[in-house]
Amino acid sequence: MSVPGFLMSNLLMTSWRTAPKGCNGYIRASSSCFTSNLLLAILLLAGGILANVSTIEPDLDEPLLVEQRPFEMVNHQLYTTTALSLLTPLAPGHNWNGTGHSLNGTSSCKLIPGDSTWPGDGDWSALNETLGGRLIASVPLAAVCHNGPFNIYNETRCGEAREGWDRPETHFVEPVEFNAPIFQNATCDPFTSVDQECELGNYVSYAVNLTTDTAADDVKAGLAFATQHNLRVVIKNTGHDYLGKSTGKGALSFWTHNLKNISIIEDYSSDDYNGPAVKIGAGVQGFDVLDSLKESGYLTLSGSCPTVGLAGGYTQGGGHSILTSKYGLSADNVLEWEVVTANGTLVTATPKENQDLYFALSGGGGGTFGVVISMTTRLFEDRKVGGANNFTFAAASDKKEDVNAFWDAVGSLQNLTIPFVDAGNSLVYLIYAWPDRKVPALTTYSVTVPDCDTTECVDTAMKPFTDDLTARGVKYEYSAKVSETFLEHYNASFGPIPYGWYPVSQVTGGRLLPRAVVSDEEMGKNLTATMRMAIQEKGFTFGCVASSAKVGLREGVVSSVNPAWRNAMAFCLVVGKWDYSIDRAEMMKMQKALTEVVQPALDAATPGGGCYLNEANFEQEDWQEQFYGLENYKKLRNVKDTWDPTGVFYALTAVGSEDWELDGDGRVCRKQ
Ligand SMILES: Cc1cc2nc3c(=O)[nH]c(=O)nc-3n(C[C@H](O)[C@H](O)[C@H](O)COP(=O)(O)OP(=O)(O)OC[C@H]3O[C@@H](n4cnc5c(N)ncnc54)[C@H](O)[C@@H]3O)c2cc1C
Repeated sequence: MSVPGFLMSNLLMTSWRTAPKGCNGYIRASSSCFTSNLLLAILLLAGGILANVSTIEPDLDEPLLVEQRPFEMVNHQLYTTTALSLLTPLAPGHNWNGTGHSLNGTSSCKLIPGDSTWPGDGDWSALNETLGGRLIASVPLAAVCHNGPFNIYNETRCGEAREGWDRPETHFVEPVEFNAPIFQNATCDPFTSVDQECELGNYVSYAVNLTTDTAADDVKAGLAFATQHNLRVVIKNTGHDYLGKSTGKGALSFWTHNLKNISIIEDYSSDDYNGPAVKIGAGVQGFDVLDSLKESGYLTLSGSCPTVGLAGGYTQGGGHSILTSKYGLSADNVLEWEVVTANGTLVTATPKENQDLYFALSGGGGGTFGVVISMTTRLFEDRKVGGANNFTFAAASDKKEDVNAFWDAVGSLQNLTIPFVDAGNSLVYLIYAWPDRKVPALTTYSVTVPDCDTTECVDTAMKPFTDDLTARGVKYEYSAKVSETFLEHYNASFGPIPYGWYPVSQVTGGRLLPRAVVSDEEMGKNLTATMRMAIQEKGFTFGCVASSAKVGLREGVVSSVNPAWRNAMAFCLVVGKWDYSIDRAEMMKMQKALTEVVQPALDAATPGGGCYLNEANFEQEDWQEQFYGLENYKKLRNVKDTWDPTGVFYALTAVGSEDWELDGDGRVCRKQ
């Protein structure tokens, strides 16, 4: 069978890229996504730093598909009587199958609804009053698709939820929704029968809707309540987390989405940095800053998906971008964190103040050291950016020699990428095989040559790749381009903002590819053979971001990102597309294949590599070492013990989570 490669890849892109929905899309009726006002002011910052600050007012009135339900409107008995099931498979070190704990919640277990000491309606009412009415009782979005027990079935809205389920904007505007399908566990989604009860399952029970003026006090009150009643605590921003870290059965959640303040600080000044900076609320997403900064002449780092939450999991977990080779990871650029710690105290963490907490928050993972209220980070000059359209090549056919030639070309491209990223550039590429996994192809979504304002210098930067493909007789597509601004460049690859085109429902694994492996002939071949197996035999897709997290690093930067980043030439996400239309058991087989075959093979093929804790398999073996690096983990664990000695915060694979396990009903219990 002969397949025209470029046609094939375009077909795949078309099917993978869902039509972008603007502000007037069906999910959000508002046309005022970016009704931000620029208010100039000169403020004395809390840290005692005199600076010029411009504040961009947040837009807090986004309509929701399912209206937030204030505490009073919900029948709380629903949460204590609903049968709960946990079908989620075993995660190493996290026992989902029961540990003999009392079903009524012992002191070693955090409570779930139905436990005898679960807070009563009066307790929740009192909390709601303390919070000024900002407590939300959970009603899953897909409750509109089920007859009971919420009794809000609505065919039209159910259809909308179903159609938008794979889109980030469907979930991030909702207080308790999250993306990870395995953790959704089919307890209440729009694809199961209308007669199936909508159960809370792994959903949190209540969420506190944090607002800018009251966030610190509300977190303090919520933490006091959770501690008093022995409740699980969760922090949710966008709900993007692939490892289900922004949800948790029975938890009280802090929902940061509405913390949307953005303030430009023209002349931030500290011992470590003098220059422009931006202070952002914990709910600010990539598209918020991209839009807010577009007229300012500045840019800051954000992820490939414009909806990722910057001060939440993204930066706290590391945060790679198409500018990593130029400026380092997002965690490398943080100047200040404002965070409410486990004992309810609002503290500022900088390289000089509460240094250990600053270190941990800058790369050590979200959801475990405290509730971040804001982050101040560096700004960079917005300039012309060099790039390329559709740098793409594919195997000429499914014949063995053509497929072999393709994989040889991939190995060579990855090797040639090392000097490319060392020069400050980045490459985002997808490797997949279609149809029937027979014909592999590589498509780049973004080629970024930051210091280049002519197509000639893009051509020069890309010449090693194009020469190599030409020498191999591999046909490719490529054309250089220059964008006037970073936003124009970004939009061409991942936009249009606000939401871009990324789908969110998937089985997820990933690996950092060490330079030493890619540049070694034998190990490089072994790596491409492993990728080939994962893609062509097991049906996964690789989404790789090639960049250097070392060359753009400022001197003296202190951050806790996995040291494996510094030796890597790329991070590759391993994706198994989640298909809600087929039997869930089939998708769980894909997760099993990832955990038992693909991820171990990839780990073995990349000695000295590691994983990116934000984009990884939740069942990863040796996650402390693979996600954090062992030495780093010890330091992070000390910080956890200092700032959260009793384990108020828990998230799967987060620092300190090895002390806890889930019992058969989903309670988080301290290991005995
Ligand atoms: C479509 C898509 C594209 C992505 N692209 C990129 C990319 O280009 N680069 C990249 O580096 N990553 C990328 N990611 C991964 C992303 O960085 C992680 O999913 C990250 O965890 C998202 O953080 P969040 O705050 O938006 O999500 P959430 O799921 O809400 O939170 C993630 C974690 O952070 C914690 N958290 C959130 N807010 C706070 C807070 N205020 N204080 C303390 N803890 C908090 C949560 O408890 C949870 O543990 C992508 C993810 C998706 C789904």
